[in-house]
Amino acid sequence: MTFDDVKTLLGEVRINYSIRKSPEISSALAALKERAVLDGEDDAAEELCCHEQILTIQECYLKAFAQMKTGEYYEAWCVLEKAENTLSWLLTNYPKYAGCFELRFICATVPRLQSLFPYKYFISPEFLIRTKRCSICEKNISIRNPCGHRVGGVYKGKICHREVSDIEVLGTAIVANPSQKYSVVFLSDPATKERKDQYNYSVVQYLISRLAEPFDGWSHEVTKRRHPHSRYSFVGRNEKCPCESGMKYKKCCLLTDGVLRPHIQFTFQKKPLLAAEAVEYSE
Ligand SMILES: [Zn+2]
Ligand SMILES: [Zn+2]
Repeated sequence: MTFDDVKTLLGEVRINYSIRKSPEISSALAALKERAVLDGEDDAAEELCCHEQILTIQECYLKAFAQMKTGEYYEAWCVLEKAENTLSWLLTNYPKYAGCFELRFICATVPRLQSLFPYKYFISPEFLIRTKRCSICEKNISIRNPCGHRVGGVYKGKICHREVSDIEVLGTAIVANPSQKYSVVFLSDPATKERKDQYNYSVVQYLISRLAEPFDGWSHEVTKRRHPHSRYSFVGRNEKCPCESGMKYKKCCLLTDGVLRPHIQFTFQKKPLLAAEAVEYSE
């Protein structure tokens, strides 16, 4: 497989995603890169490294789409984060790729999918890092003792990052906007200590069940709408209003013709798989 073959396969992901073999593309890229490094062609190695990241982004998006289809929502969430991080590295360092390989679609879709997930709080560990090593030259480095390699830079086809060791965990905090999104707060079963997924994924499920193909376009709008009081007959007049305003029901929405609740309206580019109606969700 030549580099041109790889570029064609990556460029046509919208139509070939279900039949192309990504391990083959990946090993072709690795072999081409190895050759370029041996021949001292650093620019070629850098370009090949970028295409490895493009393959990763596409594969992460496709995997997350498949996982959402089968109800593996937390797994999909983690893979979406990997797509987000890889995209952010690529487009910060090489903005010229923004318009190709469906990256524009993926870049717009990943954050919109993430916004439909019910997660609000995350565990954020605080560390004290004693030793940091450069992945390129393997020197221990500090602010006073830099090695000259830039984190995120490509050297002989490899991305520079910092390897940390000798970490002291200072503590953990529960936060709303973490630097890493995978540390979702889950409940655990007190008897078995197994993770219990207490979240409601109905919005993600609603959307994904209506999309036939990963690159079908969609958009959504979050608004509020009044829902009939008959749906909330289990709530007493003196209890808190189901709109979550914190006020008593009788002093809030009961004075109007319905309970004000968030409402998401989806629009699909192609005819959706099932009859689409609006979906109500609660935060
Ligand atoms: Zn270095
Ligand atoms: Zn209310």
